[in-house]
Parts: sequence; C-alpha cells; structure tokens
Amino acid sequence: MRSLINVQTQLLVRRFLTSSTAGRWRLFCSSSSEEEMPQPSVLRHLTAKIKATGPISVAEYMREVLTNPVTGYYVRNNMLGPEGDFITSPEISQIFGELIGVWIVTEWISAGRPKRLQLVELGPGKGSLAEDVLRVLGQLRSVLSHCSVSLHLVEVSPALSGLQALRLTGGSAQENQNHHDPVYRQGLTSTGLPVCWYRSLDDVPEGFSIFVAHEFFDALPIHKFQRTQSGWREMMVDIELENPDKLRFVLSPSPTLASTALVQEGEGRSHVEVCAEGGVIVQQLSRRISEEGGAALIADYGHDGTKTDTFRGFKGHRLHDVLASPGSADLTADVDFSFLRRMAGDGVACLGPITQRVFLKNMGIDTRMQVLLRNCVDASIRKQLINSYDALTNPDRMGERFHFFSLLHLSRLATPPNTTPPEGLTLQKKTPAAPPVAGFTELSFS
Ligand code: SAH
Repeated sequence: MRSLINVQTQLLVRRFLTSSTAGRWRLFCSSSSEEEMPQPSVLRHLTAKIKATGPISVAEYMREVLTNPVTGYYVRNNMLGPEGDFITSPEISQIFGELIGVWIVTEWISAGRPKRLQLVELGPGKGSLAEDVLRVLGQLRSVLSHCSVSLHLVEVSPALSGLQALRLTGGSAQENQNHHDPVYRQGLTSTGLPVCWYRSLDDVPEGFSIFVAHEFFDALPIHKFQRTQSGWREMMVDIELENPDKLRFVLSPSPTLASTALVQEGEGRSHVEVCAEGGVIVQQLSRRISEEGGAALIADYGHDGTKTDTFRGFKGHRLHDVLASPGSADLTADVDFSFLRRMAGDGVACLGPITQRVFLKNMGIDTRMQVLLRNCVDASIRKQLINSYDALTNPDRMGERFHFFSLLHLSRLATPPNTTPPEGLTLQKKTPAAPPVAGFTELSFS
C-alpha cells in the first residue's frame, strides 16, 4: 500500500535522497581468518564460579562472557569490521545510517517538532551509525534550526566508547573523573551537539527522545528452556565430567525461578529462548515514550516467536562453538520480536517487524543509490557501492535476515478526530487516515 506523506516530510526526504553529499566511504571486505585466541582467565573464572555454586544459567554465562567489567568480550575488544568477528549494516554502508537519520527527522516532524530532541543510541559500536545520522541532521540544519538536539550513547564497553568519542568528537570528549556520575564521558560532536555516554538506559535523562538500537538486543543475555516430560526445564552451563577445562550444557533437574516465570503459558514450541533483560529495556522504552513522547527504532536479526535454538557464536566472521574458549568470540541470539511486543504493553503502538529490505526500500534507498552512483566516477568505489547495496538489501544476505521494529507514541497512529462539519455541509464520509510512518509504509512523492 502506498501512502502520501505530508508536504514538509516529502520535501525533506526528497532533499536528502537527492543530495550529493557523500560522507566517507566504508570498505566492505571479505572475512579474515584469525588465530584462535584462548581466554584462559574467562574460562578459569567461569569454572571457579560453577565449582562454587553449581551450573549457571545461559543468561549468566552470556553476561559474564560478554560484559564482565574486566574480562568481558565487549569490554576488551573492538570486534566490529572486516578484521574483527562480525560486520554490521552501518559498517557496510553510510547509506544505512543516513536513512535512519531521515527516519529520525520525519518522526520528530510527525511529533509536532518538539523544541528538544534527545537522540539515544543503545550499543553504538564504532559510532558509525551515529556519525551518519549526525551528518543528515547537519544537512537538514534549517529544518531543525529551532530544536535543541543532543546525543546520548548507552555503551558498556570502555574500548568502544573510546572509539565512538574519537569518531564523533575528534577525541575532544572528556572522561568523567567522578565515578558516581552516571555520565562517564562527555563532549561536543564535530557539529557542536552535546554528547554524553552512559552505562545504562536508566541513566539517560527523561524527555522527548528518539531511541535507536541496531544489533543491540541480540547481544543481551538469553535464558534457554527445554520442554521435558516433567515440564519446562532451564538449560544450564556446567563443567565437562571428564575434562575440567571444558564446558557443557545440562538441563536443570527441577524448575528454576526463570523457567517458572519466563515461559509463556500455552507455549507451543519445545525449546524457547527468552531475553528477560531485553524485555526490561523495552518496558523502559515504552514507559518513556508514552510519558515523554518520542519513538524507538529497533533493528536486528530475529523472528516473531517462531524459532527455537538460535544461540550461536561468531569469530572471524565464522560460526564458533558457544562454549569453546569463552571470551574469544561474540555470542548472540535472534531477537524474539513477539516477546518485545508483549513487553512493550499497551502504552505504545508497535510497528513491524518488517524486513530490512522492505524498510530500506520504503525509505528510498534506490533513489539514494542512483544519486550516489551518478555522482561517482571512480570505478572501484562504484563497485563498492553496488556491493554494499546488495549486502544490505539482497534477501539472501542481510535483506531478509534483519528486521525493523518500532515503538511509537499512541497518538502517532491515532486517527485524527472527525470534526463536526459546519451547519449546511454534508457529513464527511471518509475517516482521514493516520499519517504514515516512514520506512514501514511505501512513501509516494507525488
Ligand atoms: N550498533 C552497532 C554495534 C553492535 S554490537 C552496530 O550495529 O555496528 C553491540 C553493541 O552493544 C556494542 O557497542 C556493545 O559494546 C554494546 N553492548 C552490548 N551489551 C551491552 C549492554 N548490556 N549495555 C550497553 N551496551 C551493550
């Protein structure tokens, strides 16, 4: 279904899509094989813990491996990019972040252009998406001229937050020496916007905010449950009986608090993964959006409550045994969007999930590509552009594996009330449609 967008938004999207500003090109290389780097201290820490208190849940295993403040995979590493363990859409092409920038501005306009706009990114990685979004905001400066915009980054990794600061502020951001302050780093972006770093969403100030989370929810710890003849049992991580330096999965012999609380009544699958932490974060987003206004855009690989065992590891762009050399590989699980929708509750409207291919095409990626190709004479860059477009949109690559899901203020999708016609006029028969949401509806520029 095509929908007409309002004239202002239409002009804005068109202005951006056809602009010739190209930013910087990112190179999308094939994977590099890396030497196996065992992380003995992580394994030692985990086995000592299991010996002391018994098998740990998969969620605790994931949390320790990924975000332990000393040894955590995300805390120590820069894992993103061709030389790392995995590559993400914002790293593949600047167009991705730019279209998200356009989405943010259209949602801000649809909310009635509030005077203050907090852009909040959860898990910003190398800061590429934020950088591309900021470039779009810079290009649309005149549209945002009466709005005070600030950037808020929720990042658990000191290594990555250092990279983000370098990229977004040219290294001028200052670390906060007061360790009790929830803002652990702050500065000004190269376009002069205030930017702050936090360890948790709880610490981000209240106020009209647009939240973006790209490949963030898949990194949060999941619990795994198996249906057995005696009911649901939680899958735990234990030490191998014959080899004390190896880990194995076991089923808890009796119900755990998590298996009792987290498996839905009437669940039809025989194995389920539940990301309780992701559920709590979505509840926070939902509360903030309903009370303070704004929207959230969540993009990740995932399913709508249909998949079972999706827990996996990535190292050097290849699948990696999740229990082998913990700390040396990324651990991830598909996002269950049906669970996020349930956790969001009735206080917000949920849109999606829709595939990345559909979202990007609805946002005008084809028009943007044509303009960039028209303005590009370098054959190798043209090839690069075409390859990255294919990586983002091809159904066999990221096009159908990744999905977009949005939380919106309830008023955003509400049908404008039918006004009583002045006396003498006939009653309007058609109810005016709610304004479309960019990306989730194909926009027509007529
Ligand atoms: N959004 C980026 C990076 C994805 S990797 C991109 O698409 O390129 C996941 C990101 O989330 C990393 O920045 C990681 O450090 C961060 N992260 C993981 N767990 C987190 C947590 N519990 N709290 C805050 N940030 C977290």
